[in-house]
Amino acid sequence: VTRGTVFRRVRIFDGERVIPADSVTVDNGVITGVGHDLDAPADATVIDGRDAMTLLPGLIDAHTHVVGPALRRALRFGVTTELDMANHAELMRSLKAADNEPEAGVQADVRSAGAAATVPGGHGTQFFPDIPTLTEPDEADEFVAARLSEGSDYIKVHYRDGRRAAALAGHDEMPVITQDTMAAVAAAARGRGLLSLAHVGTQEAAFEAIEAGIKGLAHIFVDQAPDKRFAEVAAERGIFVIATLTMAEGLGGGGELPSLADDPGLGPHLDATDLSMLRRLAGGQEQAIPVDLQGAQEAVNMAFAAGVPILAGTDSIMALHGAALHRELELLVAAGLTPAQALSAATAVTSDVFGLTDRGRVGTGLRADLLLVEGDPVADIVRTRAIAGVWKRGVAVPRGA
Ligand SMILES: [Zn+2]
Repeated sequence: VTRGTVFRRVRIFDGERVIPADSVTVDNGVITGVGHDLDAPADATVIDGRDAMTLLPGLIDAHTHVVGPALRRALRFGVTTELDMANHAELMRSLKAADNEPEAGVQADVRSAGAAATVPGGHGTQFFPDIPTLTEPDEADEFVAARLSEGSDYIKVHYRDGRRAAALAGHDEMPVITQDTMAAVAAAARGRGLLSLAHVGTQEAAFEAIEAGIKGLAHIFVDQAPDKRFAEVAAERGIFVIATLTMAEGLGGGGELPSLADDPGLGPHLDATDLSMLRRLAGGQEQAIPVDLQGAQEAVNMAFAAGVPILAGTDSIMALHGAALHRELELLVAAGLTPAQALSAATAVTSDVFGLTDRGRVGTGLRADLLLVEGDPVADIVRTRAIAGVWKRGVAVPRGA
C-alpha cells in the first residue's frame, strides 16, 4: 500500500492523444481518477505541473534483451515495461515475479519470449549455447508447448539470417531454421493463443516470415528500400512490426546515437556501460553488414500508412536500456509518424498488440505506470527526455544522477 498521489495542472497524453483533462489521482498503485481539478485525497502527495508539464503512460520498449541491471536502468528513463525477445526462461520468471515484490518500484516490469526458436548452431546459440533447438516442422508443437510451460509470453523465431548473423558474429555462415519449420512454429503458437514473432534482417526474409503466418516482425528489415508490395502484404495479413530503427542506426555505424551522451535530460543518467558504447560508436565503427537506415524508415512509414501497427523497440542488450527508446521515438518521427503516433507506438499500440490490458494508457483502473516530462512531447518529441519524474505502480522512482 502506497500513499496516494495527485497530479495537477498537467497536460495528459492518454496513449493516443492529449485529452481534455488536467489532473490524475493515483491510489494503491492504480489510477483512480482522470479529470479536471480533481481533489487530492487526504495525505496524498501533490505533484504540480504548473501547466508546463505533460503526463504520459510509462513507456514500453517492445524489443530488448534483459542483461544485468537492464530493468533498473530502463525505469530511470521512463520505460516501465520491457518486452524481452530472447532470454533464459528462469531469469525471466524471477524478474516477472519481482513485479509483485517491494523492489517493483525500482525496476521495469518485463514480458519475455524465453528461448527463441533456432536450429542447432543457429543464430541465438552464440549467446545462449544451451538453449533448446528444433529442426523439423513436426517438432514445433512440442517446442511451443515447452516454452509455454516455462512461462514464455510469446514465441520468437530466429529466421534466415545465416550469412548476416555470421558476419555480425565474425564467423562462417550459420545454419538457419527453414520456412516450413517457422510456419509450423507460428501455427503451434497460434493454436495455443500466443503471438509469434520473427527476427528478420532482410526484406526477402520479411516476406517469407509473413507468408509463413508469423504475427509480428521483431525488426523492420535493414537491407534495402521497401518494395511497395511490402506494406500491402503486411496490412493484408494483419501483422505488426517492431521498428527497432535505433538498432539499424547502431549497426549502420552509430548515426546520431553518440549525441545521447550530450543530451541534458539523458546524459547525466547514463552509466559507464552506456557511455563506453556511445564512445565506441562516436569513434566510428566498421559496418559488419550493409544497413539502409533510410530504407528501413521508408518501410516503417509505408507500413504505418497502410494501417500496420508500428511498435517502438530498441533491441537494447548490454547498454542503453531506456535511453535508446527516446532516440527510437525521434527516429519514428523522422520516418514520418507524428509525435503523438510515435508516443502511441511506445504505449497504447504496444499494450493493445500484446494484450497488456492493465497498462499503456492513462485511464481509471489502470496501473499507475507514469512518466512526467517538462514541456510538450506531442509538439516536440525530444521533450520525452526532459524527465521530471517516473512512477511505477504509483511509486515514485528514485532516479539519481
Ligand atoms: Zn533482439
